[in-house]
Amino acid sequence: MAKLTPRNEDYSKWYNELVTQTGLAENSKVRGCMVIKPYGYAIWEKMQQQLDKMFKETGHQNAYFPLFVPKSLFEAEEKNAEGFAKECAVVTHYRLKNDVENPGKLIVDPEAKLEEELVVRPTSEAIIWSTYKNWIQSYRDLPILINQWANVVRWEMRTRLFLRTAEFLWQEGHTAHANKEEAWDETKKMLDVYAEFVEEFMGIPVIKGTKTPNERFAGAEETLCIEALMQDGKALQAGTSHFLGQNFAKAFDVKFASKEGTLDYVWATSWGVSTRLIGALIMTHSDDNGLVLPPKLAPIQVVIVPIHRNDEQKNAIAEVALKLSNELKQKGISVKFDDDDNVKPGWKFNEYELKGVPLRIAIGPRDLENGQVEMARRDTLEKSFEKLEGLAETIEQKLDEIQENIFNKAKDFRANHTTEVSNFEEFKDVLENKTGFISAYWDGESETEEKIKAETKATIRCIPFSEVDLEGKVDFYSGNPAKFKVLYAKAY
Ligand code: AMP
Repeated sequence: MAKLTPRNEDYSKWYNELVTQTGLAENSKVRGCMVIKPYGYAIWEKMQQQLDKMFKETGHQNAYFPLFVPKSLFEAEEKNAEGFAKECAVVTHYRLKNDVENPGKLIVDPEAKLEEELVVRPTSEAIIWSTYKNWIQSYRDLPILINQWANVVRWEMRTRLFLRTAEFLWQEGHTAHANKEEAWDETKKMLDVYAEFVEEFMGIPVIKGTKTPNERFAGAEETLCIEALMQDGKALQAGTSHFLGQNFAKAFDVKFASKEGTLDYVWATSWGVSTRLIGALIMTHSDDNGLVLPPKLAPIQVVIVPIHRNDEQKNAIAEVALKLSNELKQKGISVKFDDDDNVKPGWKFNEYELKGVPLRIAIGPRDLENGQVEMARRDTLEKSFEKLEGLAETIEQKLDEIQENIFNKAKDFRANHTTEVSNFEEFKDVLENKTGFISAYWDGESETEEKIKAETKATIRCIPFSEVDLEGKVDFYSGNPAKFKVLYAKAY
């Protein structure tokens, strides 16, 4: 196993090496599309399970809609169509045939041209709202609270494993409501669900806020988001929740008879998080030795490595290890007893460190005599001796401690990398030397945001929800009166 390139030498190289060496994912033969390998998929499954639970607890049901969207439907909501048009893969034919001039080769059969082209969904509002039209007649049919787990395709030009891929896995919620207030409540509620999940399970602190019009989802009235800060000082959009107003209802003519007997357009929301979150997980916690996983999402939370010279020792250790494993399993802790004799303990230590297993327990013959084990924490790399008695409880506590510790560490990092600036020189200096979030006043003009982006590549990540006193404040760039206090950063 080669050592990873240190983060301070080349962060993006470190990231790619880590993703491939830990067996999370790899690039595929298809441009911009990755293969998610079993270890990476196991993490995604744990994320899915928890999110799915939270969606169901908030009243949502899962359903599934087609991968393809007929072009005429896709076009119906103009802003949405325009926003995604440049990234759409389109199916034009439905058959291949033998190429008579090139035996063994296939060509697209010109006779099998589709009457109407099919867009591979970059997002599913169009297909879903064209369906909701048939489902919604009266207020009794509302609300509709549906989530779909799916893949989508956005033909991204610059792709990176997990962070930005052409095909990605995600969930997309699509809800329909009888009035504006209810739709707004839903938009905010799902942002809170995302924030809770990302902070409590992924251990990543997030800022909740509103996107500026430049960064808003195409077809939305407002986009709410959670933004996270990565170790290299770049921001990452971790999740979005959109208030869609009546835009899609109007585009697909979805009206309902209200309690009062009027015929009104339905109100909509949509919200999504994707496999990008795995990229966020990696870039928030991991170190030069490899992955650091939050215990709540680690496929293996505890690994037990036996150290022995003969069969007698081996059997004695196995007995203790299996008893411990059973106790841990009963507590719902996932544990692996790695008694593979073909690899040396030292190799295993490196392997599990690279893979980010939160706790490693080593048991040798001397430990058994002393009624103890050696415990190594992945987050701090600290080692300690722990008593065999009550070990399952100790482990349970340690896992909680690790979960809390990595979250606090990430919060401290963010606090140390959030800087207030009051002029453009300071702004550029922070971007150049310190990186991270920059808190500054904005005049609310897209033009100001665009000029700053052109000069520095930094964009407004969000307008945080917190109350701010704008009295007498001015935009640091234009000098105009401030309308908002925002967070700028370079972003993934
Ligand atoms: P959107 O529908 O654009 O609001 O995106 C929904 C979620 O998918 C957001 O959390 C994005 O960060 C994420 N996302 C958008 N594009 C990609 C991509 N190319 N690869 C992975 N995740 C993405």
